[in-house]
Amino acid sequence: MSATCDSHGDALTRLRAHFGHRQFRQGQQEIVAAVLGGRDVLAVMPTGSGKSLGFQLPAVMLPGTTLVVSPLISLMKDQIDELNRRGIPSRALHSMLSADSRREVVSAARAGALRLLYVAPERFGSDQFLRLLGELAVARFVVDEAHCVSEWGHDFRPDYRRLRAAAAMCRASGRRAGRPPMAAFTATATPEVRDDIVALLGLEDPQVLVAGFDRPNIHLRVEQVDDEDEKIERLPGLVRGRRALVYAATRKTAEAAAACLQSAGVQAAAYHAGFEDDERTRVQDAFARGTLPVVCATNAFGMGIDRPDVDAVVHYAIPGSVEAYYQEIGRAGRDGRAATATLLWDYADVATRQYLIDGPRREKQGHQAAAVDPEEAARRKALEHARLRRMIEYADSTACLRATILRYFGDPAARERCEACGVCRPGAADAYERELVRAILAGIASAGERYGRRRIVAMLTGDTGDLPPALVKLLAAGALRHETSDALRGWIGASIAAGLIVVSNDQYRTLSLSDRGREIARGRTEPLEIQRPSRLPRLAARRRYLEELPRAFRDELMSRKRF
Ligand code: ADP
Repeated sequence: MSATCDSHGDALTRLRAHFGHRQFRQGQQEIVAAVLGGRDVLAVMPTGSGKSLGFQLPAVMLPGTTLVVSPLISLMKDQIDELNRRGIPSRALHSMLSADSRREVVSAARAGALRLLYVAPERFGSDQFLRLLGELAVARFVVDEAHCVSEWGHDFRPDYRRLRAAAAMCRASGRRAGRPPMAAFTATATPEVRDDIVALLGLEDPQVLVAGFDRPNIHLRVEQVDDEDEKIERLPGLVRGRRALVYAATRKTAEAAAACLQSAGVQAAAYHAGFEDDERTRVQDAFARGTLPVVCATNAFGMGIDRPDVDAVVHYAIPGSVEAYYQEIGRAGRDGRAATATLLWDYADVATRQYLIDGPRREKQGHQAAAVDPEEAARRKALEHARLRRMIEYADSTACLRATILRYFGDPAARERCEACGVCRPGAADAYERELVRAILAGIASAGERYGRRRIVAMLTGDTGDLPPALVKLLAAGALRHETSDALRGWIGASIAAGLIVVSNDQYRTLSLSDRGREIARGRTEPLEIQRPSRLPRLAARRRYLEELPRAFRDELMSRKRF
């Protein structure tokens, strides 16, 4: 334990004195304590949740300089400016510095005048820098965005592979023998990434802390749609009167979504990397100022967006990974007020995603497009396909959506049911579904209210093989053959719950209609209010799509229903 490892009370006092925050946020206190404690630490917190404090506060409290490896110069600059503003001496070493500034930083570091020294990963390729490392008294060796060490992470940085050896060359401050304790921070730590971070950074018996993924004020929904028309029909209702981000998979669909909203009278603009800088700045500024309520964008949008009052995020197509999805919906509800995140889920969009992984455009976007060897490229593609499959599993999940995501990230806050997402609380039936219920009730009526659930469903879906002739002859026979038996059983359950259908108490469990059910079957009562069944498989559309998939992919999809 470090000589200055302090009680929680002291950490809180220092938090207030140095950072001006009144309280720790969820998970911060545990992370600060773990870093102060002197074991290696792997801390996983979402972007924007205040991860940096997990190493900045200990850096103020421990003797020596805390070294922070960070991959983005702009991020480093923001943090350094903020720290110096708060009176915490901090500098950064990266390729954009002039020779003079670099000398200045090095001599400040040598003199032990810095609490934090931020370093870009490529510095570890320089022998001169490695020699400097040996001269410093290092309090903690911090690796920010630690997922960059992993090919499973979304931003693999080969330079991160040097960090294990570099840390071993550092001298710990205080009276510690051996290398300084390491602390790895990331917002992405699925099990694969976590294992890579521990192994490739050489963390020794690390304390792993996962916190802050739960965003209880974001209401998660997946709305399955059958085609583009259905998306266009639903989109305006999801964003009207709100401040919203609509994420599309391609530039073309981002523009199509914006056009659809404009023609529905919703003020919206498209944003993607294909627009001129001027236009992009204009859209971004208008959104930031609040004069433009809705932006339809590819994932190029949002990095710099810090409006706390975004109250709806809609995914116009399935994103490429759960990580990307959670990061994008994380832009909603930052002010703590209720917000919704809706995924419009069409199986046909999987093909677009696959194309984005496999297709030619990809190479242009890659970091080291020229240098990737084919084996490496194939491996990376396989990983991206695997991540996409995880996302598909989320979209298909029949379990609580929030719990599904939290489990994916390993957050211990995951509960069985949140009682707030689209699965736990499925919401009201839409127009098509109300019509479906009406048709089911009419079918029961025309069959004389004398049959049980199994026969009614078989009659309506046209599965008439072993039905009594009286049922086969009905006009309603096969009327709902485009729906699946599962879906009809789900809606019959929902109609029972809504008091429209009554089940007999005897052994036959025959279905009959309540007075209100009978009115609706005749088309007389408006409006029909009924909640969706909590588990509603829209398997017809799914099956149609699956039939067109390559066999291996289809088999895997079918065999992995859950995470
Ligand atoms: P990230 O998790 O992405 O690294 P930051 O550490 O930059 O996020 O924190 C995001 C914002 O939250 C910053 O503006 C920071 O000042 C603020 N913040 C961090 N901790 C607290 C706290 N305990 N109370 C209030 N604001 C905080």
